[in-house]
Amino acid sequence: MKEETFKRCVYIILFILIMIVFTKDINFFGTNFYEDIKPIEHPESIQVLVNKNNQLAMDYIPSDLEQISLNYAIEGQYLKKEAKEKFEQLSKDASELGYQIIASSTYRSYAYQSQLYEYYIKTKGLEYADLCSARPGHSEHQTGLAVDVMGSNHDYDQFELSVEFPWMKENAYQYGFILRYPKGKENITGFKYEPWHYRYVGVELAKLLYENNWTLDEYYQEHHI
Ligand SMILES: [Zn+2]
Repeated sequence: MKEETFKRCVYIILFILIMIVFTKDINFFGTNFYEDIKPIEHPESIQVLVNKNNQLAMDYIPSDLEQISLNYAIEGQYLKKEAKEKFEQLSKDASELGYQIIASSTYRSYAYQSQLYEYYIKTKGLEYADLCSARPGHSEHQTGLAVDVMGSNHDYDQFELSVEFPWMKENAYQYGFILRYPKGKENITGFKYEPWHYRYVGVELAKLLYENNWTLDEYYQEHHI
């Protein structure tokens, strides 16, 4: 073998090795989503991880759901007591700055999530349904700890364009809420970017996640819990 050819081979092998090292933790295709599913053991915990590999039981209903005041929500929105109180405080403080942060979708039952997911499959197909809607048992909305919000433009889908979004993004953690499905983390969360979806995890954990720019999934991976 010529020296030149040998060198070229060494470079190619080195390049392949470097690529393997740098990409081994990246899940490019999300292929393990919904493939290694564990039942959730402590669904009442405010730090509970619900995602495409951690599933809530069909009959799980949070024990302390309370209705959010109509000053801060549309009709008939329920969260677990602690999350509800913190959300009302967040929305009240925001209103004193001239902002409107309104809960538009909160607790959803397993049965309701089934209907929603089926609707997405019928209208948009399986691939799209899995990107923007959770399969039943895999939605954070069943925990009573997740809230979809609207701003003063009254459209949750357009929340990112509202004047409230920058405030919410930077301040929600002070009330224990995190932006659950951030831009650029789709391969980790398994969901498309959702600027309107916030999850209550408690003030201490929310601050830790915010300061480290971690999703809840990454926090559990880091700590191997
Ligand atoms: Zn949501």
